[in-house]
Amino acid sequence: MTQTAQRKSEDDFAADGHTPMMAQYHAIKEQYPDCLLFYRMGDFYELFFDDAISASAALDITLTYRGKAQGADIPMCGVPYHSYEPYLAKLIRSGFKVAICEQTENPEEARQRAKREGRPVSKALVHRDVVRVVTQGTLTEETLLQTRENNYLAALTEVGGQYGLAWLELSTGEFTVQPVAEKNLPAAIERIGPSEILIADRLSQLAALEDYRHAISMQPASLFDSHNAQGRLERMFGVDTLEGFGAFSRAEVAAAGSLIDYIERTQKGQIPHLARPRQLALGAVMEIDAATRRNLELTRTLSGERKGSLLDVIDRTITPPGARLLQARLAAPLTDLDEIAARQAMVACCAEDNTLRGALRDQLKQLPDMERALARITALRAGPRDLGMIREGLRVSATLRAFLLQADEDALRTITQDLLQSETLKALADVLGAALADELPALERDGGFIARGYDAGLDRLRGMRDESKQLIANLQAKYRQQTGIDSLKITYNNVLGYFIDVTARHADALMVKRGEQTQDNPFIHRQTLANNVRFTTPELSELERDLSSAADKALAVELNLFRDFCAQIAAVSADIGTMARALAALDVAAGLGELAAAERYCAPVLDTSCAFDIRGGRHPVVEAALKRDAHSFMPNDCDLGPAQKLWLLTGPNMAGKSTFLRQNAVITILAQIGAFVPATSAHIGVVDRLFSRVGAADDLARGRSTFMVEMVETAIILNQATERSLVILDEIGRGTATFDGLSIAWACVEHLHDVTGCRGLFATHYHELTSLTERLASLSCHSMKVKEWKGEIIFLHEVGEGSADRSYGIHVAQLAGLPAGVIARAQAVLALLQKSDQSGALSKLVDDLPLFSATPPTAPAAAHPAMQQLEAIDPDALSPREALEALYALKALTKDGQ
Ligand code: ATP
Repeated sequence: MTQTAQRKSEDDFAADGHTPMMAQYHAIKEQYPDCLLFYRMGDFYELFFDDAISASAALDITLTYRGKAQGADIPMCGVPYHSYEPYLAKLIRSGFKVAICEQTENPEEARQRAKREGRPVSKALVHRDVVRVVTQGTLTEETLLQTRENNYLAALTEVGGQYGLAWLELSTGEFTVQPVAEKNLPAAIERIGPSEILIADRLSQLAALEDYRHAISMQPASLFDSHNAQGRLERMFGVDTLEGFGAFSRAEVAAAGSLIDYIERTQKGQIPHLARPRQLALGAVMEIDAATRRNLELTRTLSGERKGSLLDVIDRTITPPGARLLQARLAAPLTDLDEIAARQAMVACCAEDNTLRGALRDQLKQLPDMERALARITALRAGPRDLGMIREGLRVSATLRAFLLQADEDALRTITQDLLQSETLKALADVLGAALADELPALERDGGFIARGYDAGLDRLRGMRDESKQLIANLQAKYRQQTGIDSLKITYNNVLGYFIDVTARHADALMVKRGEQTQDNPFIHRQTLANNVRFTTPELSELERDLSSAADKALAVELNLFRDFCAQIAAVSADIGTMARALAALDVAAGLGELAAAERYCAPVLDTSCAFDIRGGRHPVVEAALKRDAHSFMPNDCDLGPAQKLWLLTGPNMAGKSTFLRQNAVITILAQIGAFVPATSAHIGVVDRLFSRVGAADDLARGRSTFMVEMVETAIILNQATERSLVILDEIGRGTATFDGLSIAWACVEHLHDVTGCRGLFATHYHELTSLTERLASLSCHSMKVKEWKGEIIFLHEVGEGSADRSYGIHVAQLAGLPAGVIARAQAVLALLQKSDQSGALSKLVDDLPLFSATPPTAPAAAHPAMQQLEAIDPDALSPREALEALYALKALTKDGQ
């Protein structure tokens, strides 16, 4: 879809020797070099040349050939027009863009045009044009989208060193912009998780886009011109200035404007309803980098599935828009206390009042996906069922509004207000309620979606149509009686229309020469098949004419009404959009309320302090998994108050260290999305950034070893964490030699304690680190408790004070099924190592470790003892014997020091 400066025309291609059709194909394809071109021919979309080769391979369909170009066969494949969506979906999922090229006139219009242009009428080719470009980020069809997941189209720009990010969900109209510092780009992009991202060529090497290469859609630099972009946005939203929407930087304006331009080009002017752009201010959300998101398995597990993720466990929403909103909120926890409090109050309302929650959720069950229906209606891509969704949505919204007014809860007041009941909306709801039938077809061309009794003219035409059908049935009875052929049937097919069908052995009796038909034998022969012969009669033809004209007229009336309703809905799209968003928010509040009530979650207290005091905290996902096996989860406290901001957590393998670390991160996220949390109480000073480094995997695709990945992630934490951040570090320095790893872990703890001053949890098997508590005032040691019983260890999963002395790694290896011989040998080696440790080698190392200090000592290194003694000697005061003794002493000191 790139714009080429000098495009060749259809005539140019014809002059190159192409047939008229191929010349037209090439002229169109040239405008969409990065798309597969679906070229409409009759009942098929045909693909040619390389497009055909790629598409046939991706779709696993037959590649054929048609005609020749420059002496070579032209590869071709096709997909049926009536059922193209599954093919389209597969191509889009495989990463292709598809330009849909339709016939924009009928053959008669083409002939008339040729006549006007003085071209040969016999060779008139129908005009074709691309009516839409389908890309992953611009989908609106239900069949192409996941109902409970967002699908974002994003644009990233840079103007004068400042980055601007804009993203929108075309199928719901949600539109957001944000200024971003370069170092925060990876986290911001990961938060959005766009399925398509527009950038100019010069940003293609940006490291922040590394994980999104598959989604990049390179665009000409002109698309990102901030001046043009501003004009485009102002026109789009009908305002003289964008100031009312927020103080946007030029980069943000450029990004937002490029999205509008891209949509105009892909949708060919049919822009679905878009909400006004909302600005996400700097620091408005808790930043969570890509590694942390993955490690905490927020919306996907490490293996990439939704099932088993945090989202999966906490999602009790009922409607698809509610599910999408919860997903978006979980991706972007807030930092603004008022906003968090407002959300929490809604959840509290629903959590505490079972009757209210039950009633709300009962109504929500009847609510269709109004947001996406609205997008299709405003993009002129809707069917009757989309009108039905708006009808149902308006009806449920009115019921819920009445309900909320009665409940009169302060916390739910904004939602009640957004469930607008203007006279126009009421009138629209009445019209749709009266006009639409109960059962609605998918396509408007199928007709039958306007209810009986709504339009007298339509009812009359339908009466005629049905009457004609009845008359045809009567005619069949009459002919059977008249001919005595009981098997005579009047049936219909697309080629002949209505016809009289008899078996071959009865046919002779009906055969009459053309023009010699009588009242008794009015049959006119139409077709002879192997076993059947088909006839018509003047009477049947006349009835058929009446019937088809009544049916055509009835359909035309329905289509007119359909367009009219779509226009009425589009005119109030902003109001319906507001209503749909309010209903989604209500669903999220009721869903989180349900979760809180069912799983005993509590309302966390949030403020601007640096508190972090969780009592009886649990990990929602591990708890759910244990519950399935009828096991219970052991709740644990975690207090990272000023006196013990950093916890060093030791304990055996499998004792629950990782679970404990993650549960505190998860509780923080839930608290800041405005949800209740799995704990008996929680007091959290708002966290600005959350970092979690838990385990690591190779990233060979990027040429990074396990240890390199671990160090890159650690570097991000040490460079970006602030005093307000929460840092979770699990097993740092494990991927290298013991002493290297221990040294790195040591230095990291010191840095976080002395330089960053953040709240943090640090799990480790380096028990040597616990000696750091003597030097670091806010570092405190905790461990996972275990009980040894008859040679077995029992995991209590309980966090206690103090440090563990052993890791019981061999015990866990035994549980995992390592051969008995290997276990026995490991125990022997361990005994040996522990013995050599007692000889002092390791203990000595620990004594030396304070050398790795976060703040390097400023005093010069102490002088060698021999030097100190030499300094102290006054040669003039020594006797010859004393001088000799001093020399021996010095010699001895230098030997010691070797
Ligand atoms: P390693 O050091 O080997 O990585 P770990 O100490 O990090 O182990 P986890 O992975 O957190 O251990 O937990 C191991 C298993 O223990 C979990 O899969 C879970 O089944 C169980 N577990 C963890 N915490 C609890 C808890 N609080 N209550 C009950 N079971 C728990």
